[in-house]
Amino acid sequence: MRHRAHDHLRKPGRHHPRPRGFTLSAETTETSEVHEELRFRSPTLTAFQKSPLTARAMGRRLPRLVRKALGLAWHVDRRAVLALLACQLLSGAFEAFGLLATSSTITALITSGHMQDRLMDALPSICLLAGAAGTRALLAIAVSNISSRLAPRISREAELHMLDAAINAELAAYDHPGFNDKREAADRGADVAQDLLTESQDLMACLASLVAAAGVVTLLHPALLPLLLLATLPQGIASVKAARVHYQTSRALSADRRVLSHLRWHVTDKVFADQLRSGTMAGFLLGRYRSISDRIHTATDLAVHQGARYALAGAVAGGIASGLVWAALALLLGTGHMSLASAGTAVFALRSVGSSLRGMVSYGARLFRTGLYLDDWAEFIDEAGGHRMRRGTLAPPSPLAVRAESLTFCYPGSERPALHDVSLEVRRGEVLALVGENGSGKTTLSKLLAGLYLPTGGKVTWDGAGTGEFDPQALWRQTAVVPQDFARWPLSARDNITLGQAREGDGAVHEAAAHAGADEVVKELRSGLDTLLAREWFGGVELSGGQWQRIAIARAFYRPAGLLVMDEPTSALDARAEHRIFAGLRKVAQERAVVLVTHRLANVAVADRIVVLDHGRVIQRGTFAELVEAPGLFRELWALQADRGVPAAHEEAGRAVL
Ligand code: ADP
Repeated sequence: MRHRAHDHLRKPGRHHPRPRGFTLSAETTETSEVHEELRFRSPTLTAFQKSPLTARAMGRRLPRLVRKALGLAWHVDRRAVLALLACQLLSGAFEAFGLLATSSTITALITSGHMQDRLMDALPSICLLAGAAGTRALLAIAVSNISSRLAPRISREAELHMLDAAINAELAAYDHPGFNDKREAADRGADVAQDLLTESQDLMACLASLVAAAGVVTLLHPALLPLLLLATLPQGIASVKAARVHYQTSRALSADRRVLSHLRWHVTDKVFADQLRSGTMAGFLLGRYRSISDRIHTATDLAVHQGARYALAGAVAGGIASGLVWAALALLLGTGHMSLASAGTAVFALRSVGSSLRGMVSYGARLFRTGLYLDDWAEFIDEAGGHRMRRGTLAPPSPLAVRAESLTFCYPGSERPALHDVSLEVRRGEVLALVGENGSGKTTLSKLLAGLYLPTGGKVTWDGAGTGEFDPQALWRQTAVVPQDFARWPLSARDNITLGQAREGDGAVHEAAAHAGADEVVKELRSGLDTLLAREWFGGVELSGGQWQRIAIARAFYRPAGLLVMDEPTSALDARAEHRIFAGLRKVAQERAVVLVTHRLANVAVADRIVVLDHGRVIQRGTFAELVEAPGLFRELWALQADRGVPAAHEEAGRAVL
C-alpha cells in the first residue's frame, strides 16, 4: 500500500501508528483476514511472551527496573534523585518513629492513674506521633513534587535518544522487516519511561514503609513478624495471581488492539477520508471494529471475573490468617508475653505491613509491565545503533562524475536483487534518464546514486570515491532529490523551498521558484513566501497536488548545485507546467549532474543518455534517437505510449478488427 510521503506529518498523536503491511481487503473472508492480521507479532507482544509474570520473574526484574529508572533520572538530574532517595528514607524512618510513638502513647494511656495525668504522660508521644505523621505528609508532597518534575524529563530524554537513533540510522534500516513496528513500540516505551520513575518510587515507598513497620513489629515481639507475613501472604499471592490473569489477557489481546488502532487510523485520517465515503466503506470497517472490540470485551470480562475470584479467595484466606494472628496476639497478651500497648501497636503495624505488601504487588506488576515497554525502547536504540550510519569523513565538492560500477543491491530481507550488475555514469552538465517498467529498479538506482542506500555489491562513486567514504551529511548537502512522494512540510512556503537552510535574502528562493513554475503558486498565496502551507494542522493554506509538486521541484533547484535526482517530477503537473520544467532542464543541468526517472518517454528526449532497466538489469542504453530506432523494450514502450487517444486512430483500429 502506498502512502503519501507526508502522511507521517499529518499523524497527530503517537498512539495512531502508521499502518504498514496491513491490508483491508473486502475480498478475503472475515476469518482468514483476522488470522492474517493476528499472525503478525509485534515486538511488545514478543517481549510479553518472553517474560511471563511470575513472582520469581518479578523478584528478579524489579530491582533492575528500579535501578534503571534511577539511572535515567540520574542522567537527567542527580540532585533531584538524591533528594528523592533521602525523602524516601526519611519517610520510612518517620513511619518507624510513628509506630514506636503509638506504642508509648498506648502505654501511657492505659497505665492506672488519673485521666489527666495519663494524658499528660502521653502528650510527648502524641506530639511525636503527630509530628511523624505531619513530616511524612510533607515528605510525600516533596516526593511527589520532585518526581512530577523529573518524570516528564525522563520521557523527553528517552524520546531524544530514540530520535537520535532514528535520524542517524541508515535508510535501509527502515526496510528491515519489523523496524518500523519497533520504532512505534519504542515511541510508546519512551512515553511510559516517566511511569517507570513514579512506579519505582511508589514501590520504594511501600518497601520503606514495610521495612519500618516490620522493624518495629520485630522489636515488639520477634514472633509477630512471621505472623504478620503469614496474615498478608494469602492476599499477596491472590494479588499476584489476579495481576497475572490481567496481564496474560492483555498480552493475548495486544494483537487485536493493534488491529483496532490501524482500523481507527484508516477510518479517521484525511488521507483515505474521500475513498471511505465514495466507497461507502464506513459500515464495513465499523462492523469489523465492533466485532474486534466485542472479542476484546469478552476476554476482558473473563479476566475480570477470574481476578475477582482470586481476590475473593485471597480475602477469605487473608481473613482466616488475620483471625489466626488475632488469636496469637490474644494468646501472647493472655500469657503475659506481650503488653497491651505492644498488642495495640501490632494492630497498627499489621495494617501498615498489609497495605505495603499489597502496594508492592500491584506497583510491582505495573512496573514490570512498564519495564517491558521500556525494553522495546532499549531494543530499538540498540537496533538502530546496529544500523547507525558509520560512513567515512570525506566531504565532497559538487561532483564532476557520479558512477555506478557493477552495482548490485538487495533490499534487507529480500532474496532477489533489486539491481544487478549495473554500470553507468552521469557527469556534471548532463541529464541521464532512467527508463523501465514498474519495479524495474529506477527509484532504487537513483537512491543509490544519491548515497541514500549503500550498495550491497559493486560501487557507487562520486569522482572516484565510494559513497560510503563520505560523511553522509556532507554528501547530501551536494544532493537534491525530487522524490515521487515528496514531503509536504507543515511550514511556510519559504521554508518549504529552503528546507530551513535559507541563504541571504529571498532572491535565490524566487529564482528557484521561477524555474519550477512555483512562482505562480507563491504569487497567489495570501502572504507570499510567508504563507503557512498547513491548512489541516495550523489553519494555513492548502495547495493542490500539482502546486505542491512545483514547490517540491523549486526546493530541489534551490539546493546547491551537485547531483540532482528527479523521480517522476512532473506526474501531477499540467501540460504547460510540465513543458516549462523540461524546457528549462538543460539550463538547470549546466552546473549539475541530473538523473531523471520517468516512464513518460516523450520527456526523456531532453536527456543526453538514456538507460533502460528491466528487472534490475541494464538492457539498453543510448540516446533517444538511437533507442527509438533500435528494436527493444524502449521502442516497444514508445510505440505503446504513442498509440493513444487520437480518435481517428481508434476508429481505424476498430474497423480493422471488424
Ligand atoms: P521502479 O522505480 O522502477 O518502479 P523500484 O526501484 O521502486 O522500481 O523497485 C525495484 C524493486 O525493488 C521492486 O521489485 C520492488 O518490489 C523492490 N522494492 C522497492 N522498494 C523496496 C523496499 N523498500 N523493500 C523491499 N523491496 C523493495
